[in-house]
Amino acid sequence: MRYGMLIFDEPKKNISRKIIHIDMDAFYASVEIRENPSLADKPVVIAKHPKDTGGRGVVTTANYEARKYGIHSAMSAQKAFELSPKALFVPPDFEQYRVTSTKMHEIFKRYTDKIQPLSLDEAYLDVTTNHINQKSATIIAEKIREDIYSELKLTCSAGVSYNKFLAKLASDYNKPNGITVIPPEKAHDFLIQLPIEEYHGVGEKSVEKMHAIDIFNGQDLYNKEEQELVKHFGKMGHSLYRKVRGIDDSEVKNNREPKSIGKESTFSQNLNSENDIVGALRELSTKVMKNMKKKQKHGKTVVLKIRYEDFQTYTRRRTFPDYIDTEEMLFQIAVSIWEEESQDLSVRLLGITVTGLDSIVFENIPLRLWDT
Ligand SMILES: [Mg+2]
Repeated sequence: MRYGMLIFDEPKKNISRKIIHIDMDAFYASVEIRENPSLADKPVVIAKHPKDTGGRGVVTTANYEARKYGIHSAMSAQKAFELSPKALFVPPDFEQYRVTSTKMHEIFKRYTDKIQPLSLDEAYLDVTTNHINQKSATIIAEKIREDIYSELKLTCSAGVSYNKFLAKLASDYNKPNGITVIPPEKAHDFLIQLPIEEYHGVGEKSVEKMHAIDIFNGQDLYNKEEQELVKHFGKMGHSLYRKVRGIDDSEVKNNREPKSIGKESTFSQNLNSENDIVGALRELSTKVMKNMKKKQKHGKTVVLKIRYEDFQTYTRRRTFPDYIDTEEMLFQIAVSIWEEESQDLSVRLLGITVTGLDSIVFENIPLRLWDT
């Protein structure tokens, strides 16, 4: 190590917050079992039966009974069938899961408004201040677990700590139907014993790279210089250096669902030719669709905004029976609205927005394509 490179201040941890991470146990499968108790104690796989799909399809959730056979989410349904031909395949009912998720959030809101959903069945809650003036986050976590169990007939796991990273690790630690509390004075011991595979956010590829530089657990990670971690892992190295020291200042963000996603461009020189306008619509479609994919949304209504050289501004919308979920579709629609509405003037601004958004639930599942 050379001297005089970068000097990093030893980071300090903020232990003033109280964060809970709630994670439902085998959520989709548990909802199906609740609706159909004859499934209980049997291996249940939430996916269409591979026989009905010609072997295609992916496991969205497997209950704990099915996990005993090595079945897990994101595995191909065919593979799950091979592991346990007796497993019961239930096609997903996302509407039902969404309804149940909304009810979970109603329970959360009794305690705090600072809620950050990660998916239908997982959320962070900041209960530093809360609606029941309860100082103990552990008591709140237990109350939430009781409410969920008595009202929704479902179990969940909870992690309690002073930041999101630790709360999430904690909820994983005692699954299913468990609670783990990591108070500040226990964070160090908890973090150093943890295998590196269990560090949230460290993917399979990074795990390999970690192993290559002799990091197998938290202790190994803790012993590395920040510079070395940054050299190998960039931004993530910086973040892991802090996390292994129990530091994660990220806020619990109420990420409100976007109602629309759009993009507009004002042109430095007004556009006169059909070619330029179509080109601009193509560019806007690409950007809007990229953003929609990122946010896992699709919608049925397209709004085109046009401002002419005389500053007159028009918005025109079209609603379609099917979701618009490719760039090409969006582009074609934008061009067709333009063709119907265009005036013989040059254009200062164009905007494309998709509204009436819904989540693309099927694509919420991270597909690990190299799964065997
Ligand atoms: Mg879960």
